[in-house]
Formats: sequence, C-alpha cells, structure tokens
Amino acid sequence: MLYEDIENILISEEEIREKAHELGQTISEDYAGKDLVLVSVLRGAILFVADLIRAISIPLTVDFMAISSYGPSTDTSGIVKVVKDLEENIMGKHVLIVEDIIDTGLTLNYLIRNLRSREPASLDVCVLLDKSARRIVYNLPIKYKGFDVPDAFVVGYGLDYRQKYRNLPFVGILKKAVYEEE
Ligand code: 5GP
Repeated sequence: MLYEDIENILISEEEIREKAHELGQTISEDYAGKDLVLVSVLRGAILFVADLIRAISIPLTVDFMAISSYGPSTDTSGIVKVVKDLEENIMGKHVLIVEDIIDTGLTLNYLIRNLRSREPASLDVCVLLDKSARRIVYNLPIKYKGFDVPDAFVVGYGLDYRQKYRNLPFVGILKKAVYEEE
C-alpha cells in the first residue's frame, strides 16, 4: 500500500480543494478581460492544474511543457532541459506558470528566462507548494502560492518519488526509509 510509505499527511485533500478554489477565484478577478494562458509543467502539476482551471471562471487556454530537473534521486541536479515545448505562441499573452513545488528555484528560474524571451504581455507564477528553506534563486515572480512546506521530501497530489505516489489525493512526507534504502 502506498499509504504505508507516508510519514505524515501535510495537506489534506479538503485543504487542497479549498485552496484551489480560492486561488481560482482570485485569478479570475485579476485576469478578467485579459488573454490568459496557463502554462503547466508536466508531470507534477497535472492534478493541481486540473483542479485550478475548474475554479477559474474566465476564458483561458492551457498549454504544457515538460522539463527535466531531477535525476532519479531526491537531490536537485540543477540541470534543466526542455523535454516537451509549448504548442502555442505566447507572444502578447498573459502567461501564468502553474507549478507543483518550488524548492531551490532553479527549475522555475530557467523556465521564466525561457518563456520571457518569447515576449508574453505578462509572466507570473502560481505554485501549490513553496519549500523556501532551500531556495537558491530569489526574486521569482510568485504571484499566487498555495502552501508553505517544510524542508522534507513530499509526495502525492501529482508529486512523485521515482514516478510513484502521484495518485495519492493528499500531500505527505515520504518516509526517509523509502529512499535511504536504495
Ligand atoms: P527546484 O528547481 O526548485 O529545486 O525544484 C523544482 C522541482 O523539483 C519540482 O518541480 C519537483 O519536480 C522537484 N521537487 C522539489 N522538491 C520536491 C519534493 O519535496 N517532492 C517531489 N516529489 N519533488 C520535488
């Protein structure tokens, strides 16, 4: 059972649902009358983007990018590469990046520089989880934030460890024994 590998639940399904709803309403007000494009980062952010867009009441488009920043381990490599690029042109559009978690900030920093060069009308970030204790890159345009999380490896609600645990409906801390064993 997946649940047995979880040390404790940090954020419940209910708390995530409420937060997605709240963020969706704020985004709807802030971007009313604007050409909004949500750029979601695969694969960790899929559940969050799915819940968030249902809480947004203004027209929008969704596009996906895939970047690889992590090797098989839980340590950040700092190496980022685009595995899948956007399908649409974002020039002149109001772009909101939807991310699952910001840790060191290296991934997001790379993504922002990459997208900024395509000349969107605005570029901001909506992140579900902020693990600020390990931040290396500051001044990131984080306009919307779900929750702060402690310096621990979390899984669930889209977030994985070696591609597992994405389907847990909550965010929890993975037991150290799971990755220290390997
Ligand atoms: P950063 O570049 O900010 O250090 O890392 C961002 C990426 O690392 C996230 O998009 C996510 O894929 C991964 N990551 C960072 N911390 C965690 C964590 O606690 N759990 C999981 N599952 N992934 C993490």
